[in-house]
Amino acid sequence: MSQNVYQFIDVERIDPTKHPVKVRKEEFIEIYQPMQEAQAKGQADRCLDCGNPYCEWKCPVHNYIPQWLQLANEGKIIEAAELSHKTNSLPEVCGRVCPQDRLCEGACTLNNDFGAVTIGSIEKYINDKAFEMGWRPSIEGVELTDKRVAIIGAGPAGLACADVLVRNGVKPVVYDKYEEIGGLLTFGIPSFKLEKDVMTRRREIFEELGVEFVLNTEVGKDIDFQSLLDDYDSVFLGVGTYKYIRGGLPNEEAQGVYDSLPYLISNTRKVMGSADTCIDFKGKKVVVLGGGDTAMDCVRTAIRQDAEEVMCAYRRDEANMPGSAREVQNAKEEGVNFEWNAQPISIEVDADGKACGVKFVKTQLGQPDENGRRRPEAIEGSEYIVEADAVIQAFGFQPLNLEWLTPYEVELTDWNTIKANEDSQYPYQTTNPKIFAGGDIVRGADLVVTAIAEGRKAAEGILDMLEV
Ligand code: FAD
Ligand code: SF4
Repeated sequence: MSQNVYQFIDVERIDPTKHPVKVRKEEFIEIYQPMQEAQAKGQADRCLDCGNPYCEWKCPVHNYIPQWLQLANEGKIIEAAELSHKTNSLPEVCGRVCPQDRLCEGACTLNNDFGAVTIGSIEKYINDKAFEMGWRPSIEGVELTDKRVAIIGAGPAGLACADVLVRNGVKPVVYDKYEEIGGLLTFGIPSFKLEKDVMTRRREIFEELGVEFVLNTEVGKDIDFQSLLDDYDSVFLGVGTYKYIRGGLPNEEAQGVYDSLPYLISNTRKVMGSADTCIDFKGKKVVVLGGGDTAMDCVRTAIRQDAEEVMCAYRRDEANMPGSAREVQNAKEEGVNFEWNAQPISIEVDADGKACGVKFVKTQLGQPDENGRRRPEAIEGSEYIVEADAVIQAFGFQPLNLEWLTPYEVELTDWNTIKANEDSQYPYQTTNPKIFAGGDIVRGADLVVTAIAEGRKAAEGILDMLEV
């Protein structure tokens, strides 16, 4: 690190440059340009190495952040990438999509007074640069075992589980119903946050390591779950949460009302070239209901489709929005209008039964609920209608029906997630000793990095159980 202990004052926090708004409004490319070497070194040098790395503690995979910042500052890119892969299976992805303001950077000692170290951007820089230089993770020297594990779901949880297993000589075979790996990384998160060739490169890396993918294969439909239990030493379930939460609004089945994920997936498939058409809002007035990251992805997709007007309506105020503050700011810059303290009460339809608007009531924030978040309370007589040609419901996700697991004695919670946790004898083992689970299907819809953390810990549980 620099000899100058006040480096963090002399060099201010600078985020990577964004593409001009005009380009961002049209193109499905990542909005942040790559960091240059001098900038990455200078920003990494701002780390105080404070001795109490709160950043590392707050990061769900507990990355060795101060150590790889130092290596980045010294220009030791390959060593930095090696180190970052010791704790994270998809570091270049997390550098792009983690809500750093709530995680590592939010906990950085410099955060409030001087601006946190740009940890996420440097994690992305280190790994992209190492890949560009031809470096690849390797399992040279790892002793292969005869153990095989079936993984259902090629999302971040399943991929992280496969990564840890293959690095310990166990053969992972990953099944997914989609045609590509990544789960929501490929078919949820839009390419202005995560370009799709990042996952194509990852697939090549995993395959080179010895991970096998069986894609276009839905377990329970195209292949029997029992056969996986019979053929493998253990099974990991990383199947995610795909039931849309609806608002229960009158007319929510009307033509012109959409669920968030089918909309995003159809657009992504078009961007990837695997579909010729998509749900397209060119020239339309679009209202998106909800205030999380999925809502932000929908509004910013609609902007890029050249919608006439895009509004995001949320029932609390901006400070209480669940979405990342960075993504709200990006959406504002791109021209999205926000309607705070607005609770939808019905979808308005025209004479043909097609959606033509949303009726809202204004809210004020009352007492905190059981999660400590202040409840929105309707203000009597404040109803109003906003015109819309298309309405998207982005209220979040729950697990699909998992009744098919009943014969296998896998217990579920009241929320229909799978019961498994870190503190069992074998972390993330379910009530069926041969079956492990992790990611959204265990914790409920959450984050990429928490899914990675659980996939990795489950793999360690499997290794312990198999005595590898
Ligand atoms: P998933 O990523 O959902 O993967 C599950 C996989 O299992 C899928 O590929 C699915 O096809 C497969 N599968 C399911 N059932 C079967 C079956 N029977 N047979 C075969 N395959 C099956 N998080 C962030 O940290 N940052 C963000 O910016 C962010 N943005 C998001 C934007 C959107 C639109 C959404 C919906 C989520 C976002 N998230 C974000 C959340 C994050 O994507 C998820 O928390 C994470 O992907 C969960 O990982 P997972 O592996 O548990 O599940
Ligand atoms: Fe921060 Fe996420 Fe990287 Fe951890 S994985 S250091 S939380 S960006």
